[in-house]
Amino acid sequence: MDVSQSIVLHNEAQEHIVGGVNSPSRAYKGVGGGTPIYMKRGSGPYFWDVDDNKYIDYLAAYGPIITGHAHPYITKAIQTAAENGVLFGTPTELENTFAKMLKQAIPSLEKVRFVNSGTEAVMTTIRVARAYTGREKIIKFAGCYHGHSDIVLVQAGSGPSTLGNPDSAGVTVGTAKEVITVPFNDISAYEEALAIWGDQVAAVLVEPIVGNFGIVEPKEQFLAEVNRLTHEAGALVIYDEVITAFRFTYGSAQQLYGIEPDLTALGKVIGGGLPIGAYGGRIDIMEQVAPLGPAYQAGTMAGNPLSMSSGIACLELLQNPDVYQKLDQLGAQLEKGILTAAQAHGIEVTVNRLKGALTVYFTNKNIENFADAQETDSEKFGQFFHLMLSKGINLAPSKYEAWFLTITHSEQDIEQTIQAASYAFKKMAEK
Ligand code: PMP
Repeated sequence: MDVSQSIVLHNEAQEHIVGGVNSPSRAYKGVGGGTPIYMKRGSGPYFWDVDDNKYIDYLAAYGPIITGHAHPYITKAIQTAAENGVLFGTPTELENTFAKMLKQAIPSLEKVRFVNSGTEAVMTTIRVARAYTGREKIIKFAGCYHGHSDIVLVQAGSGPSTLGNPDSAGVTVGTAKEVITVPFNDISAYEEALAIWGDQVAAVLVEPIVGNFGIVEPKEQFLAEVNRLTHEAGALVIYDEVITAFRFTYGSAQQLYGIEPDLTALGKVIGGGLPIGAYGGRIDIMEQVAPLGPAYQAGTMAGNPLSMSSGIACLELLQNPDVYQKLDQLGAQLEKGILTAAQAHGIEVTVNRLKGALTVYFTNKNIENFADAQETDSEKFGQFFHLMLSKGINLAPSKYEAWFLTITHSEQDIEQTIQAASYAFKKMAEK
């Protein structure tokens, strides 16, 4: 496959853009290097690079593109909004329409606020939880990514009884000390952390279905126990549903498990591909937010007509009851095909799948938490990634990411993907 134009563009990019990319995961560091492919056009489940190579896309822009690239219904909504003016700095009716849609779809959102990214949404839920409880500490689960605000860029200490360490230069030790990190799916570690720090904890931050060390579902009762123990400690439960909302059902993961958090952060799918975030929850907590309360949060671009229109159109498409069934069917076909192909070539893989999202781990073990995912074979994943790319299959360039299906993938696309995987496993077995 000739990717010479991508190479030219990436050389140029490195002269002007730090690292040549505007988000680090795009630089292929997680797959042993290589030149990132520069895309120029997308349609449905496909995109084309600057050398005119065609790919079947499973990155879906890290989740938002659930309706496929350039869906005509969303494109039309964006065009109409653009013709009417892209930004006013005043309220618009579109914000009410979209807020009502979100509240109807996710009943725990008694009040919402729109922001511009998942990072902002999560960051603000933490501020609001602190304002409401008058406490400062946060508990999070190891390996879960919650955006790039300081407070969530913190690694686990050496056990649940220790506080965190900064995970990025520029995050202060003082900030890291406000974060306690415990393993996902380990309720006794969570209980232990609360026993030590419970009366100082403002909130626990939970990805109800993990998307950031691959797709990992909560064990039975884990979320219910987290809710019970957190509330007993007088702290709040925040769900980060930036990946999970509208990915598995029309609504959110909290509805799949019948559990309500106090606050929820949203992003990705709800923008239909345009920049967006939102947060919301219980009225008495949300009333902490300015202009009603003392917790400040604002945004020049927040609730802008383009993102609102794109988001509304996207959710309208997802209201079709066939959508999630189709994603599940395609996901099942893909999972089965990959497992069969891997077995045929003697490559050990574990596939974690929920409906139209899955992760292929190079291991023979079950993956229940971050430590399990870390132990999977990174080198094999890197080989697999590049072999798949050479066959026109675009995956996320990290063993910790999910493959996301869109409503536009067809059974034929999946079949072609399985054939590519079979080729990749064969090559890997020959090494
Ligand atoms: N939370 C989760 C669970 C995420 O996966 C992400 C992004 N991958 C974020 C928050 C941050 O969202 P954004 O990139 O829109 O800031």
